[in-house]
Amino acid sequence: MSQKVKREFDVRPEYLKSQFLDHIRTKGLPETCPFITHEKPPVDGIEVILQDFVISRQVLEKFGYAPCPICSPVKPKYVKGHLLWSSESKALYAVGHCCGHGFFANDSLEKALSQNKRAEQRRHVEAFIEAHWTFPKDLMAYWENLKPAVRDLDKVLLAIRVGLRPAVCKDIHRTTRDGGFLHIQQKVGETGSDGPDGLKIVEQRFGTIPVRGATVLRGGNRGISVEARISNVVAALSNVEWQTENEALLWICDQVDNDLFHMADFIRDAVEHIAKAIGDIAALQIFMEPENLDLISAWSLAAHGRQGSVSISNEGGMVTMMRGTKQHRRFRVPTTLTQQLAPAPALRDDEEGGGSA
Ligand SMILES: [Zn+2]
Repeated sequence: MSQKVKREFDVRPEYLKSQFLDHIRTKGLPETCPFITHEKPPVDGIEVILQDFVISRQVLEKFGYAPCPICSPVKPKYVKGHLLWSSESKALYAVGHCCGHGFFANDSLEKALSQNKRAEQRRHVEAFIEAHWTFPKDLMAYWENLKPAVRDLDKVLLAIRVGLRPAVCKDIHRTTRDGGFLHIQQKVGETGSDGPDGLKIVEQRFGTIPVRGATVLRGGNRGISVEARISNVVAALSNVEWQTENEALLWICDQVDNDLFHMADFIRDAVEHIAKAIGDIAALQIFMEPENLDLISAWSLAAHGRQGSVSISNEGGMVTMMRGTKQHRRFRVPTTLTQQLAPAPALRDDEEGGGSA
């Protein structure tokens, strides 16, 4: 490299932007750009000249990844980075995206970006996918393991809904809005007398403890199974081909806005649906506790009479449902539903711009 090349700039060298971009698009990696300094940038006085530049595929294929002067000066590692200028050293630095975020304390880029709403939205989505680039694979693997339990969840819920009848399930589920207590209707007043003192029907709280785990019975009509719903969402993630963070970044750069937004939605949806299924399994475990089922059976007897009542019991994992005095169904709780589940992938809560944009 020529010694005559200018590498010190007293004022922010805005005018070098296009030259730099041109270089990484066609000629070579950032560090071979003549006006770039290879040392670590100083901590103070940093200004961002270019944020999120991306080295072209053409250059990457020829020269490989770029080394980051901060964290990996000898080992090439990045495709996306930031061009920085320091008012202290007067020099220009191209740092990897790995380290660049440390320099963004002053909001300067946020301000520049917010001038363009669409660009800003895109940047938030890009940041989201970058932060969760392992999620498509992680979620698919997690779902493979979870699927048998969710399949059994669907089966047990269907058995309970049919066995206890949908209307009764609805009454039980209603307790989630009413402080958890089951209710029965009782006649008060005197038979035969007219007027305001006559026979009235009032709702009364049944028992002394609330019913538990009733959320799992939500929705009079669940429609599509939990398994099918999650499989649909996860299928959308199965097209992801990137294996490394760099490949993910290149993929992100190539996408039109809508495809990028869809990918972010798929990731969020899959995380949300999986979390919901895990919540359902936990609720079912609580719901199936023997004392809870005894409470429900006693309530049904009081509310519906011996003939119309339903009952459900759990003896050591063997579930028996009765309608009146007749046995309706007997099954064993699948072991998939009693095992401890590994924690599901959770979104990073430092997600940029989370809803505040
Ligand atoms: Zn770095």
